Amino acid sequence: MKANLDPFSNPDSTKVRLEDILIQLKEYASDADLDLVRKAYIFGSKAHEGQKRSSGDPYMTHPLCVALLLAEMRMDVATVVTGLLHDTVEDTLVTIEEIETLFGEHIKELVDGVTKLSKIKFSSREARQAENFRKMFMAMAADIRVIIVKLADRLHNMRTLDFLSAQKRHRIATETLEVYAPIAGRLGIQEMKIELEQVAFKNLKPEVWKKIESEMLSLKKANRNFIEEVQDMLNKELQEHSIAADVQGRYKHHYSIFRKMEAQNLDFDQVYDIIGFRVLVDDLAACYTALGLIHSLWRPVPGRFKDYVGMPKLNNYQSLHTTVIGPHGHRVEFQIRTKNMHEVAEWGVAAHWRYKEKSGMHQKDEMKFRWLRQFMEWQRDVSDPAEYLDIVKLDLFATDVYVFTPKGDIREFPRGSTPIDFAYSVHTDVGHHCVGARVSGRIVPLRYELKSGDTIEIITRADHQPSKDWLKFAKTSSARSKIRHFIRKQQRDRAKSIGRDILEKEFSRFGAEPKKELKSNQFNKFLSSRGISSEEELMAQLGYGKLTPRQVVSSVLPAEQMNEVSEEPAQTTLAKIFKRATKKSKGVVRVQGMDDILVTIGRCCSPIPGDSITGFVTRGRGVTVHRTDCSRSLSLDPERRIDVEWDGRTENRSTARVKMLCQDKPGMLAAISKEITNHKVNISSANCRSVGDSKAVNTFELGVSSVQVLNKLMSSLEKLSGVISVDRVVS
Ligand code: MN
Repeated sequence: MKANLDPFSNPDSTKVRLEDILIQLKEYASDADLDLVRKAYIFGSKAHEGQKRSSGDPYMTHPLCVALLLAEMRMDVATVVTGLLHDTVEDTLVTIEEIETLFGEHIKELVDGVTKLSKIKFSSREARQAENFRKMFMAMAADIRVIIVKLADRLHNMRTLDFLSAQKRHRIATETLEVYAPIAGRLGIQEMKIELEQVAFKNLKPEVWKKIESEMLSLKKANRNFIEEVQDMLNKELQEHSIAADVQGRYKHHYSIFRKMEAQNLDFDQVYDIIGFRVLVDDLAACYTALGLIHSLWRPVPGRFKDYVGMPKLNNYQSLHTTVIGPHGHRVEFQIRTKNMHEVAEWGVAAHWRYKEKSGMHQKDEMKFRWLRQFMEWQRDVSDPAEYLDIVKLDLFATDVYVFTPKGDIREFPRGSTPIDFAYSVHTDVGHHCVGARVSGRIVPLRYELKSGDTIEIITRADHQPSKDWLKFAKTSSARSKIRHFIRKQQRDRAKSIGRDILEKEFSRFGAEPKKELKSNQFNKFLSSRGISSEEELMAQLGYGKLTPRQVVSSVLPAEQMNEVSEEPAQTTLAKIFKRATKKSKGVVRVQGMDDILVTIGRCCSPIPGDSITGFVTRGRGVTVHRTDCSRSLSLDPERRIDVEWDGRTENRSTARVKMLCQDKPGMLAAISKEITNHKVNISSANCRSVGDSKAVNTFELGVSSVQVLNKLMSSLEKLSGVISVDRVVS
């Protein structure tokens, strides 16, 4: 029977048969549904029929080898089945729905997860991106088994790398070293990590590999008897103390030697600990006994003893480590642990998904990211702060999304972020001018929620500006504060420009030269008497309506000059209209991004709620609102156009003018006013005149709450006997 602790076998890919997988499964999962595995094999073979690998082998050899690796890891049946199916949706016409119909929701989820991960291609030139990529990778896999399948997939692809072009080999090996091997390491799957590193290293630096390889060979030759010598000495000592143990000697791997040489700038001869020993014992007490025996045989190197049994690492790794000066003065490292600890050391997180016959299948809720929390619970003492941070980050990244820039860089955002957040993270100006985004080529609105793996390209337009609505979509605080800042500034700039217009007009009306007056002593006195800090501040206050231009002008100009003009009726009337218009419109119309601004309803077209409207920043009267189809609005300067909308929250009434052509007969006017009153509409003015031919034109100014009410009233009026036509006067 195959021992739990064996590393992966590496059979000839073309020789692996379904039977090899079934034999493995039968060994560790006697109650497993083997028919499901057979079904997956047949389904996969049909789907991949006719497809070949670069080696020329039938494609199905690959899923078979992946499934065998998973069975060797003693993964549950669902994971092994996923191994057989993992490329069907990505590479054949099979749909994810078919997988669900044939294999159930559970396996569908796993296959879907692997397919999604396959779509992300790591192509960064920056090392710091690798960490983000690993995080994205893990964040996208809701189930840890998806990552385990992906690692087995990668391991088999690495084993069969030779058949690819040099360029492809280099790309895949780099990706393996920067992304896959660290993930395997973080999950504690040592065997996987080591083999991935070894194959990648051999492909990326064949020259260095060869050099280390030949050094290793001569070292092994020179130390031919060394491993046996140590084993014999220790075994004898262990037996004397009745400790059952398995002592294994092994050489450090090429890649870890290379890393050590590079990091500490050493020659091969200067690297210590190339030979290490592993002592596997039965129980915890035996660990410490074995340690004592080793220290009695050879002198320990100070500072090299580590007790990961008493204080396990965050990934639950447990072992005693010590380095001693062994026979012939060679430094030798020993790792001492129980077989249970060894299983965790070799398989890490995967150990939790390994099939355990006694306890049966695992609970489903255990399969998600619960292992992360377990990592935290296991931790009794944080001995390595960097490692702790790593784990905390892992736990957090479930709430983050990772997206690509068009250049392939990865950026991290809180879940729920939108293209606006992305745009502001590129540059403030990109944010301000952002009109939308392309996500993997498809145009999306600004409210689109970013998903991990998306490639985001921002669409900008030079004349576009942020609006208050953006605050509903922006999630990051930096984007929100940039939008708020822009709106405040824009609002204030508009108020200032309006304020200046009003004031200049008022000065001119009294025959004064505005530029001259704004520099006068009187003007400065007025500012300081009001506690206004600057001319700009005054303009803003005028624009916001906190001061009237008359208040300024009357304080600056001599009283005689004021009196001369104030008698003129034109101004009085204008002021009245201005006042009335302001009063009427208050709260009815909202101006985009502005509070507190003067709004005037255009008297030419008298828009009422429901009409399509547009606003214009006027010289001296705040913002005037016109119907979009008003002839006057079309002739106004488009530069001054501004978005406005009806404020649906208010009950205010607006004025509409209606012209009726009727027969000039007694009782006509009474019938009309009765109908208007029935519709609960107020008549604010009426003008009736006879036009001869026994006809009359009646013009009404009506206070209505919406265009719907007005339309209803007008159609009722049309039906009255004696009414010839009813029209709304719009300009
Ligand atoms: Mn594959």
